[in-house]
Amino acid sequence: MIDLRSDTVTRPSEAMRQAMARAPVGDDVWGDDPTVRQLEELAADMLGTEAALYLSSGTQSNLVAIMSHCQRGDEYIVGQDAHTYKYEAGGAAVLGSVQPQPLPVREDGTLDLDAVRAVIKPDDFHFAISRLFCLENTISGRVLPMSYLARAATLAREEGLGFHLDGARVFNASVKLGVDVREISRHFDSVSVCLSKGLGAPVGSMLCASRDLIATARRHRKILGGGMRQAGIIAAGGIYALQHNIARLAEDHEHAALLGLELMNVPEVVVDEAKLQTNMVFITPRDGNAMALGDHLASKGILVDYRSTIRMVTHLHITRQDVMTVVDSIKQFYR
Ligand SMILES: *Cc1c(COP(=O)(O)O)cnc(C)c1O
Repeated sequence: MIDLRSDTVTRPSEAMRQAMARAPVGDDVWGDDPTVRQLEELAADMLGTEAALYLSSGTQSNLVAIMSHCQRGDEYIVGQDAHTYKYEAGGAAVLGSVQPQPLPVREDGTLDLDAVRAVIKPDDFHFAISRLFCLENTISGRVLPMSYLARAATLAREEGLGFHLDGARVFNASVKLGVDVREISRHFDSVSVCLSKGLGAPVGSMLCASRDLIATARRHRKILGGGMRQAGIIAAGGIYALQHNIARLAEDHEHAALLGLELMNVPEVVVDEAKLQTNMVFITPRDGNAMALGDHLASKGILVDYRSTIRMVTHLHITRQDVMTVVDSIKQFYR
């Protein structure tokens, strides 16, 4: 089985499991779990923030961040295709009473900053209060340009908006750019990072921000039922991931590049080159029938994410040999 549906399918390695088995634990809701505390200190240190909070998922981390920046009746500005807006079941509106103000995501993954400025509402009781600006990096495999982050941060500061990054895969961005992740995180008031994707931990995300914002976030995590007790068992997997699995993301990027490059030689499919930057490959069959190709691959034990297009995500269980097997299976389908 070659599972390219997502980097969330990664399972803990033997060494990670050993670290989890040995982890000292306590009741984290009481603040007693030394392993969770260590993970939070490590994440804050790595991201260059005052504090961090361990959350059960990226969805919970983004929601808690939005609820911590915003009050009921506020709004957040977000990409139309951003995970926070599109793939989190409307949580900010449902549970936070925070209205989204979505904007189109451009080819390079950015939002037009003039368009952002244009949707910021004046102080008038007819309008929701524009409070927060959210970006995602990487977004569908794309790395946001550093110069763009600086300009977006300036906008947020000038307009008095909070600035949140859904950095589920922010380490893919830093590894790709060859910069310390702090060069990215320093532009934001809060950053959410997934441990359970390419980093290979079984559970959890980190929200990294100021001490004040994290204190508020801790309350919202409790409201959402996200206070966990002896969570050190799973947090230990997160520590292991942050200590061992970041630099190797470059291999995932190489494998995705190889897969994309090989598929550019297959005339029946179109590779989305704009998104071919980190660990994702998006292809569209020219005949429009992604379902047929996806079903064929599944019958060969190759799992991909497919509907109108096909998404393949490389991760720590995918080898160069797997990549070539996938290429052969796709070629074979059209032969
Ligand atoms: C996966 C993902 C999330 C949410 O993480 P879960 O742990 O699956 O809830 C948030 N944002 C982005 C960009 C993601 O890819």
